[in-house]
Amino acid sequence: MRSWFIRYVWDPYRLVYVPVPIGWRSLWRQGRVWVQGALVGVALFVGGFRWWESYVERQERARMAVLEEKIQRLRQEWQLCEGRVEYFYQRQRDFYAPIVGASPIAAGAWIGGTGGARPMSAAELSLYRANLVREAYEKLHAEMRSRQEALQRYPYMMPVAGMITSGFGFRRDPFHGAWQMHTGVDINARYGTPVQATASGIVIHAGWDNGGGYGIQVEINHLNGFVTKYAHLSRVAVQVGDTVQRGDVIGYVGSTGYSVAPHLHYEVIQNGTKLDPRKFLPL
Ligand SMILES: [Zn+2]
Repeated sequence: MRSWFIRYVWDPYRLVYVPVPIGWRSLWRQGRVWVQGALVGVALFVGGFRWWESYVERQERARMAVLEEKIQRLRQEWQLCEGRVEYFYQRQRDFYAPIVGASPIAAGAWIGGTGGARPMSAAELSLYRANLVREAYEKLHAEMRSRQEALQRYPYMMPVAGMITSGFGFRRDPFHGAWQMHTGVDINARYGTPVQATASGIVIHAGWDNGGGYGIQVEINHLNGFVTKYAHLSRVAVQVGDTVQRGDVIGYVGSTGYSVAPHLHYEVIQNGTKLDPRKFLPL
């Protein structure tokens, strides 16, 4: 057998190098350390790699667990939101829409409608429903708001704190005692007491009446057929064209015009007809 391991030995008699095969035994003796070292190295490398691998795997698993938990929590929140949207849908359908007289969200629209090339995913359906509910409530809100504004323009308030001393209807004139129609109510109040608008509207008169006996007066048009009049003021706090809200101070009690003592003469006029203001006062 041909050996790959040959060493050359000097022959002092023949004066040449003589090739001598190296025996396996001596080769092992010489190479053993290297082989053992290599084996230990491989073992260390494999072991280290395994350890690193399992370390990375553990890290990944931990991260997955955290993500899993987050997904779970999001799912729960999503379900909670869906429950709320469902609640608002039912509330709108059974309670708010009938009160306002608005049309509720159609059942067909709620289940996703009939049009659409493909069925919606659960997430898409949730978003779509949330939008339906939002739109329905925005409509309700707009409707309620316009009603609220209409209510605010309906005269319903005492214009000044005080006692009603003279009602609407025929009465004896305080100056000459003759029977005369009294077209409003007189409310007794101290000179300078603030007078408030009984509903919101636009000021159409603010200042002296031209010889009509009302003295300094304010008239407000409520843009719904109603006009209110506040007379015998000491001074006004608004100008013609001003927009006033219910409760705004428009002037101060006085005794100008056809008046014997400080009081407010208050009139409610609907489409040109003077009505009994007591029907427009809270009890
Ligand atoms: Zn009066």
